[in-house]
Amino acid sequence: MSRPATLYHGGVIRPWADERTAEALLVRAGRVVATGALADLDTPGAARVNLDGAHLFPGFTDAHVHVWKVGQLRTTLLDLRETTSLDDLATQVATRHAALPEGAWLWGRGWNEARLGAAPTRDLLDRLAPARPVLLTRTCAHIHAVSTPALDRAGIGPDTVPPPGGEIDYPRGHLTETAYGLVYGAMPEPTQAQFEEWILAGLTYLQSLGFTAATDPAVDPPLYAAYRALDAAGRLPIRVNLLYIRRPDGGAATYPLPEKHHSARLRCDSVKFFLDGGLSGATAAVSEPFKETGTRGVLRFDPDELYELAREAHVAGFRIGAHAIGDVALTQLLDVYERLRREHPVGPRHRIEHFGLPDAGHLRRARKLDVIAVPQPVFLHELRANYDRYVPDALAGQVFPLRAMFDAGLTVAFSSDGPVVRELRPLAGLRAAVQGAYVPGQDVTLAQALGAYTRGGAAAHGDPDRGTIEPGRHADLTVIGGNLFDTDPHSWPDIPVRGGVPADAPEREAP
Ligand SMILES: [Zn+2]
Repeated sequence: MSRPATLYHGGVIRPWADERTAEALLVRAGRVVATGALADLDTPGAARVNLDGAHLFPGFTDAHVHVWKVGQLRTTLLDLRETTSLDDLATQVATRHAALPEGAWLWGRGWNEARLGAAPTRDLLDRLAPARPVLLTRTCAHIHAVSTPALDRAGIGPDTVPPPGGEIDYPRGHLTETAYGLVYGAMPEPTQAQFEEWILAGLTYLQSLGFTAATDPAVDPPLYAAYRALDAAGRLPIRVNLLYIRRPDGGAATYPLPEKHHSARLRCDSVKFFLDGGLSGATAAVSEPFKETGTRGVLRFDPDELYELAREAHVAGFRIGAHAIGDVALTQLLDVYERLRREHPVGPRHRIEHFGLPDAGHLRRARKLDVIAVPQPVFLHELRANYDRYVPDALAGQVFPLRAMFDAGLTVAFSSDGPVVRELRPLAGLRAAVQGAYVPGQDVTLAQALGAYTRGGAAAHGDPDRGTIEPGRHADLTVIGGNLFDTDPHSWPDIPVRGGVPADAPEREAP
């Protein structure tokens, strides 16, 4: 007996996420049968879905979003992303302090000194929440403000030597990069049930925004266990691709390569490395000193050590997703990828997360190596003030040059990096990509941007079976309630979007 079919009609089908359209779409058993004229696809017994004029796209992927942290911010963490002054932050911290049991950690996230006027300090936190360990993570997650009790519990004193790749500013109570691990390690470890709750909260939210897939780009062993438990129970609402971290913050210990996993909803065959910090907080590794700080950021790996860890993963068939933002970090990473290609020519495609300050040489090298670029268009909107403040003039012409990535022939996958940014809606990302360039002339076309959320996202996920609406492919679909091709981009973020992943699509068809 053949499985039930679904016929989509009454709207605009966009099989390739561009100007080309079709009248109807027929889906059976979670797979695309055909697109075409309604009269040709009308099938007796098929369930009919009237799109009511909406536009149907291949499913959207957020190729880099910290799913569990998004969920955590939506449930248990103090969300500071909307705070616009230190007074406002103080009120929120004091209120949360009053509500928490004695001795419990107060953990918040999302402050940005470019919006507050100044960063929160140890003294301030000690005053607001006396005797309480407080950890307030900056919006980028590369800098953390902590109270004295938090430092005490982590065993950090005025003379503590920071771990490699990290910095401790004891007087101000600021921990940078790997030094965060010292405090994180002193906090009570979340239970698996908590991780599961946060993952589900994050994925449910992403699904509500219209996404059908996401990459969680920093997964450690307890988080991986939570994902696998949810997958085994059939509870993952959208498809998830994991980048498994090798080197946790705060130590030189290395996690062994994980067991690979590939089911219909969950995939783990990638590892993650952090080469440097962020641009918005002036910790990315750059060739010219940042304005304001005069520093050149942090390079977290010795090159030989990075190559060895990458080689081990590459040879074992793992894909690599590596965080590299500054031009110095990009050079280090491309050197590693080039050497892998030279010494071990057969291997999977690798990714560069963020790709913040590439010059033409970086882009050429990346194209030659078939690297997938994973930048974040929304950064251009939300973090612009930080770029103005820190990025040295000599590098200002290289800030997230999205157009140049396409022109270089790279496969580009768009993402949000939420909760680094507040705005996770895909159409806000689209708008930033087509009219938010930091560097004049670097806006992309709507079709390029849509391709990066669909085909590009599927490529970054490692899934050639998605990304367009073509026969045989997964019928992961995103429905957009307006015509992006004839409306002002300013109105896009408010257009309703919804997404769906078919429940009955087997990962591989039986032979
Ligand atoms: Zn990230």
